[in-house]
Amino acid sequence: MARTSPNIVITGTPGVGKTTHCELLAERTGLKHLSVNDIVKDRECHEGWDEEYESWIVDEDKLLDAMEEQVLQGGCILDWHACDLFPKSWVDLVVVLRVDSMTLYDRLSARKYPEIKLQENLDSEIMEVLLQEARDSYDEEIVVELQSNTADDMDVNVDRIEAWLKQWKENNAAN
Ligand code: ADP
Repeated sequence: MARTSPNIVITGTPGVGKTTHCELLAERTGLKHLSVNDIVKDRECHEGWDEEYESWIVDEDKLLDAMEEQVLQGGCILDWHACDLFPKSWVDLVVVLRVDSMTLYDRLSARKYPEIKLQENLDSEIMEVLLQEARDSYDEEIVVELQSNTADDMDVNVDRIEAWLKQWKENNAAN
């Protein structure tokens, strides 16, 4: 069944501003914000807790099963620091948020990340790991890279995504 509302993935290195963007976007558009972290935790889609990285060891099959019914209805914003596991058929737009290293360092330090996790995430951002993952996994025309250094960036980004959503709905209604 065709979706009447699109699904949007908001991804990027931890600390880029995914959750903040998703919350604002959900408030403005009525789309549902799905925090994949919360689903992993609440629906127990994991094989335990990694002490060193202080994060869940995700069971991806279980996670996809837990999300499928809701996502297939459309109108979801998927908030996660990975994107390549989501089937192409689920996704209409992939937003990869980016941030300067110093800003990311400050945000992750404020979260009291363990040193190893902080360093890995900084490296990942510098090496554009998530951007590459998105480009490798989805058609290039649906992948958008947006800066998330300041509150102004966030406003501009959310305006842009809202405009995209409006256009998607018009195109979809016409088809
Ligand atoms: P993520 O979900 O990607 O881990 P968050 O949305 O939790 O990131 O944001 C991490 C921190 O950075 C929060 O304190 C948030 O307020 C701040 N932040 C995120 N994006 C921006 C931005 N564009 N401008 C200023 N602060 C931001």
